[in-house]
Amino acid sequence: MNQKYNRVYNFSAGPAVLPIEVLETARDDMLNYHNSGMSVMEMSHRSKTYDEIIKTAEKDLRELMNIPDNYKVLFLQGGAHLQFSMVPINLLKNGVADYIVTGQWAKKAYVEAQKYGKINKIATSEDKTFSYIPDCSDLNISPEADYVYICENNTIYGTKFHTLPNTKGKILVSDMSSCFLSEPVDVTKYGLIFAGVQKNVGPAGVQIVIIREDLLTDDLPNWCPTMLSYKIHADNNSLYNTPPAYGIYICGLVFKWLKKLGGLEKMKEINEKKAKILYDFLDKSKLFKGTVEKNSRSLMNVPFVTENDEMDKKFIEEAKNEGLVQLKGHRTVGGMRASIYNAMPIEGVVKLVEFMEKFEKENL
Ligand SMILES: *Cc1c(COP(=O)(O)O)cnc(C)c1O
Repeated sequence: MNQKYNRVYNFSAGPAVLPIEVLETARDDMLNYHNSGMSVMEMSHRSKTYDEIIKTAEKDLRELMNIPDNYKVLFLQGGAHLQFSMVPINLLKNGVADYIVTGQWAKKAYVEAQKYGKINKIATSEDKTFSYIPDCSDLNISPEADYVYICENNTIYGTKFHTLPNTKGKILVSDMSSCFLSEPVDVTKYGLIFAGVQKNVGPAGVQIVIIREDLLTDDLPNWCPTMLSYKIHADNNSLYNTPPAYGIYICGLVFKWLKKLGGLEKMKEINEKKAKILYDFLDKSKLFKGTVEKNSRSLMNVPFVTENDEMDKKFIEEAKNEGLVQLKGHRTVGGMRASIYNAMPIEGVVKLVEFMEKFEKENL
């Protein structure tokens, strides 16, 4: 627990923990942002001060992820769910796309896309409750496919693609909501990346889209709402209409925090260290068990069970009393899940494992 503010260790899958330093800066800036005489919430999104905020946020994100010049960065709204629609509406040309279904979010995207074209499920791990990432080295990619879709980190099931699928030359689209900025990625391998920021980057309400310029098009169906065109947002530098201004400001503070920390290589190193502490314990525990195949494990979301519903409940309750909160698994899976995003300090994971050890001794 953070003594100064009486804060808990929050293992929520999202909205999730933010870095203390970021919250402190937001607090200090709250009533009068940089001598503007107002808070960022009260500011015109067309003002010079706000322009600086959004431009700096984009610049820092480009630097962190090493985003090439031929990719646009968009700050949008509507959550990852709106991307489930925007992706097919904007990218379907032949009307065909291939989806790899590795969890509930990928499945929802797959079902939504069917409204707009012929959507193929080319691989899935549903046979074993999404506890692994299928081999995607030689899939039956449709010759006419406009893109191949993945959910790179499966928030609910705790799996992660450690090797990207072989798309056989097709454009790769990735939902990175729950692993965005957790480690370096090679942006050039993707046509489009999107992420809801409430998992690893900021407050709910902002959606970041990174899209290769040649995929932007005016040639959209007549019925497509203007607001759902990537090109419209790209042409207007995410200021076509009022953007989620305050949320973008917080994201910008998180980008600065990451840069100060040493960038994504360093973040990855820290995340690997944190995850190892928890996975090593799960691997030797006689009470708790990880639910994911070892080579598919996520660095961000770690589901585990005791295989006894009453025991799970007791654990979650007692953990809460220790200031270790939001450990309940997703309502569709049960058990426990510890989300250990960028902003979860290593002390939080250490404290969780210490508590698990103690609980195991008392209950086995
Ligand atoms: C949380 C989550 C979503 C859904 O995000 P919303 O912002 O609620 O639409 C989609 N995909 C992934 C990977 C997620 O973790």
